[in-house]
Amino acid sequence: MDVTPRMRAALAAASEDSVVIDLEGVEQQYTALTGELPGLEVRFAMKACPVDEVLLRLARLGSGFDAASPQEIEQALATGVAPEKIHYGNTIKSDRNIADAHRLGVRDFATDSVEDVAAIAAHAPGARVFCRLATDGQGALWGLSRKFGCSAEDAVRVLEAARDAGLTPAGLSVHVGSQQMTPDAWRRAVDDLAEVITELNGRGIHLDHVNLGGGLPALGYVDRNGRRLDPPLDKMFTVIREGMDHLRAVSASELGFIMEPGRHLVADHGAIRAQVSRLTTRRQPDGEREHWLYLSCGKFNGLYEMDALQYRLVFPTHSATGELVPAVVAGPTCDSDDAYAHERGRVPVPRDVASGDPVWLLACGAYAMGYMTRGFNGFSPLPCTLIDERA
Ligand SMILES: *Cc1c(COP(=O)(O)O)cnc(C)c1O
Repeated sequence: MDVTPRMRAALAAASEDSVVIDLEGVEQQYTALTGELPGLEVRFAMKACPVDEVLLRLARLGSGFDAASPQEIEQALATGVAPEKIHYGNTIKSDRNIADAHRLGVRDFATDSVEDVAAIAAHAPGARVFCRLATDGQGALWGLSRKFGCSAEDAVRVLEAARDAGLTPAGLSVHVGSQQMTPDAWRRAVDDLAEVITELNGRGIHLDHVNLGGGLPALGYVDRNGRRLDPPLDKMFTVIREGMDHLRAVSASELGFIMEPGRHLVADHGAIRAQVSRLTTRRQPDGEREHWLYLSCGKFNGLYEMDALQYRLVFPTHSATGELVPAVVAGPTCDSDDAYAHERGRVPVPRDVASGDPVWLLACGAYAMGYMTRGFNGFSPLPCTLIDERA
């Protein structure tokens, strides 16, 4: 994805720092995705870009939402979307979260444990549950590790428990890891899903949906050398289409398919307009001379993913042919974690950048607003309680 003329114009017009999101681009991305995977229902993973206007645009195109908390559900409902199109995709829920979601009209709940199923039965009677299968996360920039999902054997147990508790065992879900780079991850997930569906059918449990989760990549990220990551997106779509056919063939009941893309719908259609705070050159105690580029934004205001990502930087007021120095890039805070490109090579920066010069960071539409502006995933920041004996 190159920076479009529309994005370039908006970035150039911004005189203050901001995240710029191209609603038209998001719309085109949604249309392209649903064109590639006909029959698939999209539930946008809101945390990737919890901006009302983005959600509204997607809702009008027919998208539903993957929400992770009652606050996210409320934000989704504000678009006017039907509650049936909102999926409570978080396997982690308190009793109160479940009751609130139920009260708001949500009926689809992800789960991965018998404890959670018992709580859903108690606080959301009649709900439809999707059991999440664990994946190895290989091939993804963020593997999602062991926090979510269960084994094939446990999935059978969990869905049987759901049926026994009077819930509808509606489906299975997976998430192959965020910014997945390999088509094979979906192939492995489909094999696991097929195995569980067959086992469930043998036990009289007939699912109506499979949720293939998120993980579809953005195209605009770069590696340590500034080269595009270039994930094989077409190949992924082919594998997913074949996987859907395979699962339909295996299942004794008619299956619908859902996906919960986050990053893929928004990342390449957002960019950050920031500015140079300072470019410095310092010698470390070990004698190494280092260039550091400090930006006005960093890990805590827009670039939360800097541990795993290299952002593509554009210095619009500097010519591409001028002298460059290899720099570590860092945010403006007093936190030493707020820096990237330490061990992963350096980023080429024009030697003559000055404080206040604009910098554009491309492909920043995903996971910039969410981590920065509100409680991530709809979990509020904690208020502060003061002990003040003089009050
Ligand atoms: C975050 C999340 C997604 C979206 O993941 P992407 O990698 O951004 O596509 C999808 N489903 C669930 C349950 C999630 O938590």
